[in-house]
Amino acid sequence: MELLENKGIANMRHVFDRLHSKPRGRGSGPQGDPVMARPNSTPAGGADTVITIVPGGPGTGTTVSDGGGRKMTSAKLYVIFWGDGWKSVPAGSPSIDDVLNDIASIVASPYLDGLREYTPFTGATLEAAYFVDGYNPPGSFTSADTDYVAWYMMAYGPIPEELDTIVCVMMPPGITNSLNGEHSYSIVPNLTTVPVFWVRYRSRAGISCAFSHELVETITDPDGSGIQVDPRGIIDWNEIGDACNNVCQSINGVSVQAYWSARSLACIIPVYVPVVARQITCIRKHEHADANHPIRWVGGIDIPSGQSFQMTQTECIAAIDRGESFIVQGADGRTAAVRVLVHFPPWGPQGIRYIATVSDKSKADNLLSLPDCPRGPLDHLFPYG
Ligand SMILES: [Zn+2]
Repeated sequence: MELLENKGIANMRHVFDRLHSKPRGRGSGPQGDPVMARPNSTPAGGADTVITIVPGGPGTGTTVSDGGGRKMTSAKLYVIFWGDGWKSVPAGSPSIDDVLNDIASIVASPYLDGLREYTPFTGATLEAAYFVDGYNPPGSFTSADTDYVAWYMMAYGPIPEELDTIVCVMMPPGITNSLNGEHSYSIVPNLTTVPVFWVRYRSRAGISCAFSHELVETITDPDGSGIQVDPRGIIDWNEIGDACNNVCQSINGVSVQAYWSARSLACIIPVYVPVVARQITCIRKHEHADANHPIRWVGGIDIPSGQSFQMTQTECIAAIDRGESFIVQGADGRTAAVRVLVHFPPWGPQGIRYIATVSDKSKADNLLSLPDCPRGPLDHLFPYG
């Protein structure tokens, strides 16, 4: 997590306002709370991404049109946590780490795969996260305020203005709005437009649902000239997230909103169907252990085949992102699920993802207290410590 100490941010708003004097369109996010749809029953077998239909939405007469303008084919996501409120999150409420964990899971999961019916989308990455303090959002903020913060960080650093840049501004606790989120764009100094969206602080499921809503709309309709649901809106865009407002499902422990599929004529959430569950029985650590992230590779057995496996931590993270499940059995015989967490070291904006058990059923054991795996074929991948 990089702290942005650019005191100049309070002083450049007049430049931004001059560049953005013409009215810009926007995609207004939903109001109200997510309605969690029941999980779909998992189709048997196979290991492919499956487009699941989620109940809700406007019905099969709905049509979608392509305005012929910009649609994104890849996305680099920069997340700004804006405001001092993020330093004093109430106990039990979503923290910066919670929000980033959910974002990292969403972009790594098959959630965005359904967008390929609209644009040849290759994937999104969480590039960096920043915390802006000392310059706070006004109590009744609009997209112009969040667009300005994004614009400032592109004009004066550190966010690069590239064709696939998306800036997401996470609003702090204590700041309210009648909307849960909204996307628009900034005109950066090289006069390209860069999509920007904000998400209002609320429950963890509410934040990740609104985030996913704005993300799919930003990719398919970044400036209002791309994919919209009919009738199109010129200033108030009518988009694939709006058609499925607040229709959310928990996938892999992270709540996401469904979006409209013109191909399926329904609200959809793509998911990955796991073939197996795996039990991790041993771990191989770095010899010069980094106390926070000591695991190189893990070993264990497939359930129910009983076949043994070894995989690197990176491979394990990719498998969990796809929806495969891993468990650890504690000394008390109870199991705990293995999840992916993200840790932002103080020296940079890039997060480190790692696996850990979450204390759901077993409190007696965790991943790090498993025995060492015997040396194995994966050791040669780690020649340095
Ligand atoms: Zn929307």
